[in-house]
Amino acid sequence: MSTVTEAPPTTEKKPHATEAGNYFVSNYPPFSFWKPEYVSALESVMQKPAPTDVPLGVYFHIPFCRKRCHFCYFKVYTDKNAAEIRAYINAGMKEMARFAASPYIAGRKAQFVYFGGGTPSYLSTPQLHELTSRMKDLVPWDEAEEVAFEAEPGTLNEKKLECIREIGVTRLSLGVEHFDDHILESNGRAHRSGEVDRAFKFARTLGFEHINIDLIAGMMNETEEKWKFAVQRAVELGPDALTIYQMEVPYNTGIYQQMKAEGKVTAPVADWETKRRWVSYAFDEFVKAGYTVTSAYTVVKDPNRIKFVYRDSLWNGADLLSCGVASFGHLGGVHYQNQADVGPYMQLIDADKLAIFRAYQTNAEEQFVREFILKLKLGSFRPQFYIDKHGTDPRQFFGTQLDWIVKEGFGAWNGDVFTLTRDGLLQVDRLCHEFFLPQHRQYARYT
Ligand code: SF4
Repeated sequence: MSTVTEAPPTTEKKPHATEAGNYFVSNYPPFSFWKPEYVSALESVMQKPAPTDVPLGVYFHIPFCRKRCHFCYFKVYTDKNAAEIRAYINAGMKEMARFAASPYIAGRKAQFVYFGGGTPSYLSTPQLHELTSRMKDLVPWDEAEEVAFEAEPGTLNEKKLECIREIGVTRLSLGVEHFDDHILESNGRAHRSGEVDRAFKFARTLGFEHINIDLIAGMMNETEEKWKFAVQRAVELGPDALTIYQMEVPYNTGIYQQMKAEGKVTAPVADWETKRRWVSYAFDEFVKAGYTVTSAYTVVKDPNRIKFVYRDSLWNGADLLSCGVASFGHLGGVHYQNQADVGPYMQLIDADKLAIFRAYQTNAEEQFVREFILKLKLGSFRPQFYIDKHGTDPRQFFGTQLDWIVKEGFGAWNGDVFTLTRDGLLQVDRLCHEFFLPQHRQYARYT
């Protein structure tokens, strides 16, 4: 592997105003490098024998929501009837069956399962029972360490929550976002705070191992007072984990459409410095309540018990068999994403074809960089881990970048451990771009 010294870290001034574009780094190399012509690499992987030492995860994407949030950048459908949802589930299971029958997947069991969206909890209880029993027949879950499920509080009545528990969900992730009804309403959320309280309390009685709540710092109309109120309410609920995102405004959101119509460059949300301060305040309040900060986005009540198996396995390089419209997967070192619109997706599945839109075959150097960047979000690392796993010492490979981070006060060495400061941790997605390989830097912003 070569050393990345060609392009010194950028020294542009810190961004303050929130402008349109993606900020969050969820994978590497950037999606703009994934191409339709690389899909054949995934077809080749599927014909390889199943590995014995790589964990397998299963993801299923539910693209339905009750209402489109103004900040949403996913392709979601708010107008599908029961017959259309049934047809979508049938297509998804046909797709999964094709993967499950391939030499690379056949006979493997899931280490983790994830239902994402959209809104998985939009499905009815019969739909959830049918979907999950078909999935379990294709790729067994009986040894899964985690079954995670994203839920919108307003879709959760007692019957639905009982069903979600019955199908084997261990980690319930509630998309709360805020506790102020005016903020929820003015940002286009479908639920209100009363529904959060009811859903959370009933979910607690059902014995989910891990209930996470999501908040967003910096939604439209956010104020100091309202943010403090939201944090206070979250502390009072006492979730096992709390995840906080800083509001971003990608191009395909309703907020950006409005900005464009009004000729505005700055989004009508708090600036980055304020959002970081709000997240830091939330972290401090949760630490006072006995929680531990475990990443740039999470605090956890009991780090010995509460794990994020999906996240950690993926960052470690696990395989992810991903099905459903627009879903992102990763098999045998090949990233892939399915068709982003339900029409073409269903047509391809109907025609007995893979529904993949674009893919990317990673090499050993990219796999090292990917793991390094993603795990930086945990806040610290030991070089020896990467030397043992990838044969590369980050102190040499990323010497320029790490020196710059230390100089800027975003991180420090303590013996053989590098740790980001709170300020560094809260802008880690910005720092991640500095570690991209030179050929990926010109497109460092994610699209
Ligand atoms: S609930 Fe989530 S996926 Fe659905 S519209 Fe809102 S942000 Fe998008």
